[in-house]
Amino acid sequence: MIRQAVELKVKTTVYSTILKVLLPFLLVFGLLFTIVFFLLMMADQLTGEQKNPVQGGKATNVSKEVLRYQSTVKKYTKEYGISQYTDIILAIMMQESGGRGDDPMQASESHCGTVGCIKKPEKSIQLGTKNFAQQLKKAKGDLKTAIQSYNFGGGFIDYVNQRGGHYTKELAMNFSKRQYQKLAHTGIYHCIRPEAVPVNACYGDVGYVDAVLKYYDFTSPVQGKGKWTTPIEGAVEVTSGFGTRTWEDGSKENHKGLDFGCINRVTPIYAPRKGKVIYSEFHKNKNGAPGYGNLVILQHGKGLYTGYAHLFETNVREGQAIKEGQQIGVCGSTGHSTGPHLHFEVKTSEWGGHLNPQSVLDFRGR
Ligand SMILES: [Zn+2]
Repeated sequence: MIRQAVELKVKTTVYSTILKVLLPFLLVFGLLFTIVFFLLMMADQLTGEQKNPVQGGKATNVSKEVLRYQSTVKKYTKEYGISQYTDIILAIMMQESGGRGDDPMQASESHCGTVGCIKKPEKSIQLGTKNFAQQLKKAKGDLKTAIQSYNFGGGFIDYVNQRGGHYTKELAMNFSKRQYQKLAHTGIYHCIRPEAVPVNACYGDVGYVDAVLKYYDFTSPVQGKGKWTTPIEGAVEVTSGFGTRTWEDGSKENHKGLDFGCINRVTPIYAPRKGKVIYSEFHKNKNGAPGYGNLVILQHGKGLYTGYAHLFETNVREGQAIKEGQQIGVCGSTGHSTGPHLHFEVKTSEWGGHLNPQSVLDFRGR
């Protein structure tokens, strides 16, 4: 009896010791398992959301010094409302500094008048991005004018705006020539490009646009099967694709067009093909709820229509004939919209028969 009791006691002690040691392990293990499980679920949800294409042109052949600033550039392009221009800023940085030094965007001169007053790369990126955002707005979204004025200064934009509002190399040469005539006596300007020497276009870099865009590939990863140019100016970013999309709350929606990121009240919207305006007014849903906002519908022939929604304003009227490449409005966020974008539709009738716009577009940059 005593031996049995002792055995029992020993057994119980062993069991309780095992339990005492194992229980915390089990608890910790269980907790860790739960945490890892939830993290994995969240990661899956995040990648799930990213299945909507968010894509535009890409910076190309830029150094690893430039690439390490990608997230900093992203932060400031978002802050200044030009998210889709992140890779353009990286291309500018590559041309300015290759990503080296304390002032990779070479923003000191425009900031304080002297070279080298900026000591922190982040400050340089902030000021450089802010400056570019301002130039882009002033140039009404004309990307090449904004890039050239990063080198020439804002005076170039006024010069271009007085002469049609679109960048050409010739305008850059003439502006440089004019500025050089005014400033040659200072002795601080000298010709950078061989082609600029014979005509004395020696103010700034007349080849700056080409030099920057050498580091930018306009070809969007979004593939198109057609020949039309995109209806939007600048660095094209598709922010939502055609077809079923899932919202954060899990609800699904059939998205009947393509969404392009653009700058509110700035980015011009163009007709990618000639046509006739058959609708140009503020659209609401039948129940009075916000719909397409300022909407233009073009007819391009029998059974082919395009729609341009959420515009800030339109500058066309019903019945008007439109040439290919003609401006029909300005980017906005009117109607049922969560932020500035162009909602672009291709369809076989005025209000129905939606096709995937990727069947007519080829996603070339303008
Ligand atoms: Zn849309």
